[in-house]
Amino acid sequence: MKPWSPESWRDFPIRQQPTYPDSTALLTAEAQLAKMPPLVFAQEARDLREQLGRACEGKAFLLQGGDCAESFADFSATSIRDTFKVLLQMAVVLTYSGRKPVIKVARMAGQFAKPRSADTETIDGVTLPAYRGDIINQLDFTESARLPDPQRMLQAYHQSTATLNLVRAFATGGLADLHKVNQWNLDFAEASPLRNRYLDIAERIQDALAFMAVCGVDSNNTPPLHATHLYTSHEALLLNYEQALTRKDSLTGDWYNCSAHMLWIGERTRKLDEAHIEFFRGIHNPIGVKVGPSMDEDELIHLIDALNPDNQAGRLTLITRMGANTLGDKLPRLARRVKAEGRKVVWSSDPMHGNTVKASSGYKTRSFDDILTEINQFFAALRAEGQEPGGIHLEMTGQHVTECTGGAYKISDDDLANCYRTQCDPRLNGDQVLEMAFCIAERLRV
Ligand code: PEP
Ligand code: MN
Repeated sequence: MKPWSPESWRDFPIRQQPTYPDSTALLTAEAQLAKMPPLVFAQEARDLREQLGRACEGKAFLLQGGDCAESFADFSATSIRDTFKVLLQMAVVLTYSGRKPVIKVARMAGQFAKPRSADTETIDGVTLPAYRGDIINQLDFTESARLPDPQRMLQAYHQSTATLNLVRAFATGGLADLHKVNQWNLDFAEASPLRNRYLDIAERIQDALAFMAVCGVDSNNTPPLHATHLYTSHEALLLNYEQALTRKDSLTGDWYNCSAHMLWIGERTRKLDEAHIEFFRGIHNPIGVKVGPSMDEDELIHLIDALNPDNQAGRLTLITRMGANTLGDKLPRLARRVKAEGRKVVWSSDPMHGNTVKASSGYKTRSFDDILTEINQFFAALRAEGQEPGGIHLEMTGQHVTECTGGAYKISDDDLANCYRTQCDPRLNGDQVLEMAFCIAERLRV
């Protein structure tokens, strides 16, 4: 095997990349990005890897979620705040029920590049390049909008820095106070049509906080009750961008992709001997890889060997995305083999991407019940094989969109048009995703 370097991926076949019309403009943008400060610090990535190591052993739980695709147009403090808030609300419920720390990782501050099922899109006889995410081109269906523009990488970088800045301020500046977060949960449960089902946990958390306060443990003197950590993550698909932000850590001499704390490889770009595996094998961040229904046991072990040859706990998260009807057939064999070979992985469930359907109204959607069914099957299958269900990975927003059907408010196919705002895949809205957390909490309860 040739030595790794941040650009060694360029010698390998690669999928899902744009064809930039002007190679000089691309080189200019890459050089500009390479001069920018890193977005995260290597030690933060090492801390996250350590925490994920605990999730391997069942001593922590990973909660990863956010937009399918961040957008330049929908960029606002309100949407960042709402997603941040709902992630914390979910984490409180999961921590309380599971009696273990919840590691919070946002799909945020870099989740811009999208793999597509086809390179082109045809509407009314007109064929144009597919939309590949705001970091590459624009969603509008015109020739100029669909032309890949390398300067968009810089816009994505700047949007990511602003997002991360606000998230860090929220995390330590008081918005993450546990008393506040649980008050939001009480408000949610009070208003829910399924009030009786959700109020119980929220009230018990309130009691625990009141008890601690009487004992002298409160937000004023206990930093963990007042502040939190929210890590960032995205699919590292556009390797020109990822390479430019990959830096050598001065403390350890190791390479880190400083565009986010955690990166993952998508289902469509995880072939062995291709560029994405090459790039990922050399960075020291904690990484994920999507595992779809076509994965077989041998391929999975080869992938683990390539990405985590030292079998380091917390380095590798396997994000299963099989579909509610398929997971029960496919996951047990993979889990059995991973266990037999003694490989340390975090198993996380992405119950979104195997459950996408086209609604009668024409919208791409997912049903709350299918999503929950896949999560329940994930827990059951891993537990039956003696492996730990270590996390979940959701496409979600804190805002009140209507993109997924079902949930306590019974969003129907006909409701989807009311507020369908995603750039790409349908997300659970703030109420649906919190309800999902209460349902998962029932699984985690010890
Ligand atoms: C995604 O997470 O948005 C995605 C494209 O997933 P997958 O690679 O699993 O299809
Ligand atoms: Mn998606």
